[in-house]
Amino acid sequence: MKKILIVTRTFGKYSQEPVEFLKKEGFEIIRSDTIDPDILKEVDALIVGTHPVTAEMIENSSLKVIAKHGVGVDNIDLEAATKKGIPVTITAGANSLSVAELTIAFIFALIRGLVWAHNKLFLERKWEGTVGQEVSGKTLGVVGFGSIGREVVKKAVCLGMNVLVYDPYVSKDNVRLLEATPVDDLDQLLKESDFVSLHVPLNESTKNMIGERELSLMKKSAFLINTSRGGLVDEEALVKALKEGRIAGAALDVFSEEPPNPNSPLFKCPNLITTAHIGAHTKESILRMNMMAAQSVVDFFKGNIPKYVVNKEVAQILKEKGYQEVS
Ligand code: NAD
Repeated sequence: MKKILIVTRTFGKYSQEPVEFLKKEGFEIIRSDTIDPDILKEVDALIVGTHPVTAEMIENSSLKVIAKHGVGVDNIDLEAATKKGIPVTITAGANSLSVAELTIAFIFALIRGLVWAHNKLFLERKWEGTVGQEVSGKTLGVVGFGSIGREVVKKAVCLGMNVLVYDPYVSKDNVRLLEATPVDDLDQLLKESDFVSLHVPLNESTKNMIGERELSLMKKSAFLINTSRGGLVDEEALVKALKEGRIAGAALDVFSEEPPNPNSPLFKCPNLITTAHIGAHTKESILRMNMMAAQSVVDFFKGNIPKYVVNKEVAQILKEKGYQEVS
């Protein structure tokens, strides 16, 4: 019997379907809130959310496949997995709608001062109004035109927003197909947008891509939204920009350190709204992620190449060994 370690709290939380599916396929399920390196020596597969999976853990493990419950694989040492011939899969697209909807919720919350207005009345019992603005006609700059970025673009266009897209790796025609305008450089997007929303992976080239210089290019009236990864934004520079009123506000679902230090200066910025990495946390998205991660593991042990393997070298080796591609 194959053993699978599941280190993501939401697996099977809203539906038993993914748990039943794995059991039916003959897996023994081990649940944990942390990754115990000793358990990794006994299991064949791992389904993991955002817990770090280090090179040392991978090297000393008996893992044959790692399924990321989500899409950002910055918590998994891909190099070590690839070296050991372990495919790492993602649940591509499963959470795109949910993250995009949170992004749109942030746009409204920021421009209408919803959190501030709620706190005034609910916590302080003060009848004070805010004067917001309409979203329609405003310019949204979308950085990264992948699964989530595209969903954000579609929704923003429906709201009557002008949408600029910066993504040097996609075709401009595909951007225009969604009625958005491609731009050639990030600086232009930063200068022209009323909202800037980040939808790129965190890697060496995107780390701190929004720092002091980039924030200084944004309009004083503009808002920054990050539902991607905390490391994309230089938080110190953001705090400074918010405190000095160099941008109008920001919304963060993600932080360079999670959970962030309770004494972080971020929490002293009045024009910042925050959520605890909830972008993908809807019942629908969780069930889709549960099922896709489980399916990837099952596919692998049935001699198939799971659908979304991120370390392509390993997918190629599997192919050469006779593993079949799944449709
Ligand atoms: P994706 O791989 O489909 O798209 C990423 C896009 O970013 C690609 O089109 C790529 O070309 C583009 N890109 C890469 N580097 C870039 C750069 N330097 N400048 C501009 N564009 C660049 O990924 P996705 O599914 O859209 O997810 C995006 C990110 O969102 C993930 O990597 C993850 O970190 C984050 N995420 C967060 C949550 C959450 O709960 N808040 C949930 C899911 C995903």
